[in-house]
Amino acid sequence: MIQRKTTQCSLILNAVQALHTHPSADEVYAYLHATKPTISRATVYRDLNRLAEEGKIKRVEITSSATRFDYRLDDHYHFKCLGCGCVYDVNQEEVKGLPIISDAKGLAITGFDVVFKGYCPKCQHK
Ligand SMILES: [Zn+2]
Ligand SMILES: [Zn+2]
Repeated sequence: MIQRKTTQCSLILNAVQALHTHPSADEVYAYLHATKPTISRATVYRDLNRLAEEGKIKRVEITSSATRFDYRLDDHYHFKCLGCGCVYDVNQEEVKGLPIISDAKGLAITGFDVVFKGYCPKCQHK
């Protein structure tokens, strides 16, 4: 039973690592369901959250809708297309002009999210 759980969990981890699209839980479920129809939506949701808690994947809050999951664990930024809604990774060595919190008294800050917005090449040609 424990073996089966581990296998399912690594299947979900593999799916996030294969889908470089910052998939939502529903997208991971749809991807897995295509090859493994017995997998349940609840399992996918639960295991995604567990993997994120274990630090094996990252939760990213890019849209106000669904939480998305990221296979990349290093610090990087995101670009969100306002046309099709797809999310890309963007690398930037240095972010200049980023506001620095000067009154963090009492706040336990654990990180920050930077999301650039605009249109992807596909949407620019529409
Ligand atoms: Zn687009
Ligand atoms: Zn990312």
